[in-house]
Amino acid sequence: CGIVGIVGRSQVAPLIVDALKRLEYRGYDSAGVATIEKGELGRRRAEGKLVNLERRLKEEPLDGTIGIGHTRWATHGVPNETNAHPHFSNGVAIVHNGIIENFAELRDELTRDGYTFSSQTDTEVVAHLVARELAKGLKPVEAAHAALKRLSGAFALAIMFNGDEDLIVGARNGPPLAVGHGEGEMFLGSDAIALAPFTNSITYLEDGDWAVVRRNGVAIYDIDGKKVSRKRQQSLSTS
Ligand code: GLU
Repeated sequence: CGIVGIVGRSQVAPLIVDALKRLEYRGYDSAGVATIEKGELGRRRAEGKLVNLERRLKEEPLDGTIGIGHTRWATHGVPNETNAHPHFSNGVAIVHNGIIENFAELRDELTRDGYTFSSQTDTEVVAHLVARELAKGLKPVEAAHAALKRLSGAFALAIMFNGDEDLIVGARNGPPLAVGHGEGEMFLGSDAIALAPFTNSITYLEDGDWAVVRRNGVAIYDIDGKKVSRKRQQSLSTS
């Protein structure tokens, strides 16, 4: 029910958890965070409140200056650790808010192609779809775009790729998603309140938009891959 992504300059896992706390008002039943550190994708997930995730991170910290995090409000699959986001497939990490309406059809197609599902969520199809495009030889950004074209439903997504520690792809079709601008670091969040500790400079994605977020800035495209320009504004919320 909440999304955070940081392509940052310092250790991001604690920052992501702090930002997720600011999205608590939306409600959630589980939470998780993933980072990439020296080519290694790692994640910690926990059922229940964010304190459980914090405890997991304390027991087993996650290093990395790029990461994504999620609070989940289960729609497909019970609220447990296995169904908590981020979901992984072959070096692709995904967090998702909303519902992928055509997930059953996509799951059948991906299963036929040899992908195995480790959760009961609708979300996991997105991770496998992106991984399948990478396996066909597409680069991360193109793979994300190709996968997005296959999705119907309501979604806000953040996608991270092991192998590119300077890239998060965000996408919006329904639930809100905002890009936060920093100095040599960039952010994604479900709303400006989540990003207030980091920046007040915000660009809201519109429905159908997807964004290539890197430390030096963001480029936003429509579903046909045409670059679009979206206003950068000062958010009124303060940290
Ligand atoms: N449909 C997804 C799931 O059940 C995402 C739910 C959400 O918006 O948190 O895992």
